[in-house]
Amino acid sequence: MSDLILLRYGELGLKGHNRSFFIKKLKENIRRMLKGKGKLTSVHGRLFFHPWEMEREIVENLQRVFGLVGVSPAKEVEADMDEISFAAKELISRLDLKTPTTFKVETKRADKSFYLNSMEISRDIGANLLQLFPQLKVDVHNPEIRVRIEIRKKAFVYIADNPGPGGLPVGTGGKGILLLSGGIDSPVAGWMMLKRGIDILPLHFSSPPYTNERSLEKVKELVRELKQWGLKRPLYNVNFTPIQEKLIQEVPGDFLTIMMRRMMVRIANKIAEKTGDKCIITGESLGQVASQTIESLQSTGVLAEVPLLRPLIGLDKQEIINLAQKIGTYETSIQPHEDCCQVFVPNHPVTRPILSEVEKIEEKFDFEEKLIEAVEKIERL
Ligand code: ATP
Ligand code: MG
Repeated sequence: MSDLILLRYGELGLKGHNRSFFIKKLKENIRRMLKGKGKLTSVHGRLFFHPWEMEREIVENLQRVFGLVGVSPAKEVEADMDEISFAAKELISRLDLKTPTTFKVETKRADKSFYLNSMEISRDIGANLLQLFPQLKVDVHNPEIRVRIEIRKKAFVYIADNPGPGGLPVGTGGKGILLLSGGIDSPVAGWMMLKRGIDILPLHFSSPPYTNERSLEKVKELVRELKQWGLKRPLYNVNFTPIQEKLIQEVPGDFLTIMMRRMMVRIANKIAEKTGDKCIITGESLGQVASQTIESLQSTGVLAEVPLLRPLIGLDKQEIINLAQKIGTYETSIQPHEDCCQVFVPNHPVTRPILSEVEKIEEKFDFEEKLIEAVEKIERL
């Protein structure tokens, strides 16, 4: 009997001829997450990870690999009823059940030559478990525990208990630039796009000396947290101060925030052109603040030369907070910090900027040189 971890993947199965590409990325991402520990093999549309050592930690890491829908410690045994039964017993024992629990045994037979059919196998193993564990009760419709048996050349026995995060493997959806502030929203937006397979470049705008080293540390920490979810690319930092100082001279205060956003998009465009990134991602949510009304979103959106994605657009703040807590970025995000835009924030920002008006204000000054300079001096952290 040997111990391994059975990795199930979801949506990937639907991707027809792209399937092998998806699985290759998924494997790459798994190896990256586990930093060379153990061995990854694939058999018949299943991935296996050997062995179980440090199981808890490995399972937790795998539960953050997008594309996986289930991560189950499993037993590989000979295709033999005694061995299967023993493996099932071991797996149930490990759950250490204290209270009455319902269960069901489900069998799949890839090898039809096995002398019992799936129903018979499930029934026999189920009966055996009932005898061994008085806490267990059968419920075939809505069981708390599903003991799964797969009969191939060998047999695999596992309990489908640890869900994976779902989604698509990071990198299968192309590359995109994430505008990452130190706030609650943008890390969550990044997480949502990682989940859909986008290989993200985190891009931060800082305003030294108005923003300090601690603000940057905070963003670095957020990047570390997103790395736990498969982020691969390094953080890039733009010195935004020269542009902001120019804006303050040239632009009516009420329009400052919206102008800063527009400059961010312009810079992201320039970077995307160089790096081949195919989208820009922000943490904006409709109506959350003055700069996120539909008019404000239009004023920034029209400038994007690649799709501008706002995965949080329809979420309430509380829903975003719940997600931030779930993915582990919340505690970092709520640390006090100075954001480049807060430093220069106007008292009464325009809430419904009319695009033509915004464009007219901008016409009066030349900022192209400063944008180019900001991109040239970008800092890789
Ligand atoms: P967040 O919590 O992500 O900061 P927010 O609700 O505070 O969002 P804003 O501060 O108005 O909203 O920012 C809107 C979006 O603009 C952010 O979600 C982020 O994508 C981008 N952004 C804002 N400030 C920065 C910055 N300093 N660096 C990079 N991107 C930024
Ligand atoms: Mg913010």
